[in-house]
Amino acid sequence: MLERVGFIGLGIMGRGMAGNLLTAGFPLSVWNRTAARMDELVSAGATAGKSPADVAAHSDVIVTCVSDTPDVEAVLLGPDGVINGARPGSLVIDMSTISPQATEAIAGQLAQKGIAMLDAPVSGGAEGAARGTLSIMIGGAAEDVARAMPLFEAMGKTITHVGGTGSGQTVKLVNQILVVGNTLAMSEALLFAQAGGVDLQKAFDAVSKGAGGSWMFTNRAPQIIARDWRPGFTVDLQQKDLRLVLAAADQLGAPLLGTGTVFNLYRTLQSRGLGAEGNHALIKALEHLAGFEVGAADEPEA
Ligand code: NAP
Repeated sequence: MLERVGFIGLGIMGRGMAGNLLTAGFPLSVWNRTAARMDELVSAGATAGKSPADVAAHSDVIVTCVSDTPDVEAVLLGPDGVINGARPGSLVIDMSTISPQATEAIAGQLAQKGIAMLDAPVSGGAEGAARGTLSIMIGGAAEDVARAMPLFEAMGKTITHVGGTGSGQTVKLVNQILVVGNTLAMSEALLFAQAGGVDLQKAFDAVSKGAGGSWMFTNRAPQIIARDWRPGFTVDLQQKDLRLVLAAADQLGAPLLGTGTVFNLYRTLQSRGLGAEGNHALIKALEHLAGFEVGAADEPEA
């Protein structure tokens, strides 16, 4: 018998993940702050809840996928929050990307009511959420991970229990440090290639499969060369994650010089109104400093 699942937060990620739980046969109730976003899943067989507390009252396992730390606190601990509807013995799985330290505090409050919690942030983007191929990084107790495994298997492909409460979020932030480091390296490399007067496509072909290659370079350098700024992941969300990285690094005493630089470069893009562009638009901050652009020379300045 599959457990009853409540899903809170049907954004770009949540709607695909909830859809995959429904397809896998879980009895599903949903709640989203903007109610109209529940319609599609309700038509597919889910039940619309009145509040996070209401969803929790009708569920054994409650999944959250909302934006940031205060939003998770609101849906879990607020007056209409999960904590005020869930029974002892329920399990909360937070799949948002939020602060590892706040995660520990939230788990502590839920535990006082007999509610267990896993942090299980993801990578793989909207596409991975829709296809059920996400990478899921999990922090929490082994018995809770085992209980949640049928849900994780419906939503993801690479499922890794990385340690205790909060460590899923820590590893997600490790991933984000790698992402922005690779994005900065790609941007500097393309700027240099442009300045050196070499054919960008030939430079790409020559180096993308070598030691300097990366997922970011393979997938986003062609977009930069074509000056296509459509997002896989937006500057605004990337910046939210870097804020979490730098706050955690400050608390932990880890110097992250490169990540701090990228955070400040993204801030210049946000102040130019480019927060909704893809994270590879980082190169625009360097172009601004350099006084020249990469790729098509005739594209108007954004
Ligand atoms: P999104 O499309 O902006 O959706 C955010 C969701 O959170 C919406 O359902 C929104 O409700 C809800 N929400 C935000 N604040 C809330 C609050 N205070 N109370 C109640 N609901 C609230 O974002 P997303 O891309 O799905 O991202 C969700 C999480 O996954 C984030 O933590 C993000 O960093 C992480 N993530 C995203 C990606 C990606 O590629 N997009 C990849 C990996 C991880 P409304 O509909 O009412 O606005």
